[in-house]
Amino acid sequence: MIAEIIAIGSEMLTPHRQDTNSLYLTAGLNDLGVSVAFKTIVGDNRRHLVSAIRLALLRVDIVLLSGGLGPTEDDLTRECLAEVLQVQLHRDPSVVNKLRERFAARRIPLPPNNLKQADVLEGAHLLPNANGSAPGQYIDTVFATPDGPFRKIIILLPGPPKELKPLFDTECRPRLSAALPAFHLARRMLRMALIPESTVDARCAPIYTQFTDVETTILAGHAEIQLHFVCSKPSLEAANARVDALADLIAHEMGDDIFSAEGESLEEVVMLMLGLRNQTLAIAESCTGGWLGERLTAIPNSSRVFLGGAITYSDVSKTTFANVDAALIAHYGAISDPVARAMAEGIRQRTGATLGLSITGIAGPSVPGGADAGKPVGLVYIGLADGEDTQVRQFQINGDRERIRLWSTQHALEMLRRSLQ
Ligand code: ATP
Ligand code: MG
Repeated sequence: MIAEIIAIGSEMLTPHRQDTNSLYLTAGLNDLGVSVAFKTIVGDNRRHLVSAIRLALLRVDIVLLSGGLGPTEDDLTRECLAEVLQVQLHRDPSVVNKLRERFAARRIPLPPNNLKQADVLEGAHLLPNANGSAPGQYIDTVFATPDGPFRKIIILLPGPPKELKPLFDTECRPRLSAALPAFHLARRMLRMALIPESTVDARCAPIYTQFTDVETTILAGHAEIQLHFVCSKPSLEAANARVDALADLIAHEMGDDIFSAEGESLEEVVMLMLGLRNQTLAIAESCTGGWLGERLTAIPNSSRVFLGGAITYSDVSKTTFANVDAALIAHYGAISDPVARAMAEGIRQRTGATLGLSITGIAGPSVPGGADAGKPVGLVYIGLADGEDTQVRQFQINGDRERIRLWSTQHALEMLRRSLQ
């Protein structure tokens, strides 16, 4: 079973508004084992809406329409659907009464325009809307396509999210689950940091292409790669078995590169491993200005393993807070292997943590002067000190300031994770 969601409203074709209803509806449909094959956004235009509805009915089993049920001239959903299905609209007296009561309760006369909200498509079941004036409509019908007649479910929902969400949950879910054959979706996600997408795909494609009943998606962004697996089967056990079998084979292929197989973030995994190894962490951040600390402290109870640290942005603060010898900075520059090393060791000593982690780099866009003159934007050093040994790694990160800073925090967390394995 596949569905299409049509979000109706010209405002969503401007730079100012986004269709968010379809995200909610997609999650709900997925729960019922229905995958969304298409999403369409269409303006308040009769010809365009008729064409969008017709196309949807030709290519999917279930069509959800969001919006355009209001009282104004540009609310056209009911009329357009009636035109495509070639059915009549009739004014439902019970809805008219409800509209009259709503307006009477607010002591305003019912504008004649609003009566069109009581127009119901022939064969539709009304879905009472507790939070607004326009009821939804549910149609289970047969639609003639060039390949013959097919059963189609069409649902009309009001656009305001406060109305659409409860209406979908209370009225549509039970109807859909009764109408559809039982299918269950199983999902798994594997997460990897700092590996090129093409490398991941080259290694994983020979495996996932064998699983034709599991949909595999590779998502890249925010300095990580996610592999998503989705499978739909009549039983949840069968669906889970397939995604687990595939995820296990890929996990075996990618080994340590995978930081999470259960959805946890990189910082959550690092926190967990610090706890398991009885380690505590302190950090000294320069170019990331506290971003690493923010990522770590966003996790509840991080104080068990994360002691704190310093934003050692200026040269002086590297000396004051992380015991870095000023002569070292003058000689090598603040963005250098020896300074990253000294920052990691210094913050570790100052805080009494078992591990010290440091980041110093050039986030750009301009290149610094002084002892760091001539070094390229994106040059980043990360240091990790454990009291016996200090490792420093040099990175060259591409992109703008934001990207260089994010990737620096990611490299730092990944270096720490790998040292804890
Ligand atoms: P109304 O009776 O309010 O006119 P309606 O069913 O005609 O209801 P619209 O006019 O299309 O709905 O939308 C009303 C408001 O709901 C819009 O201003 C917008 O803020 C919000 N909205 C509509 N569609 C969406 C959507 N797909 N995603 C998020 N918000 C939406
Ligand atoms: Mg409207």
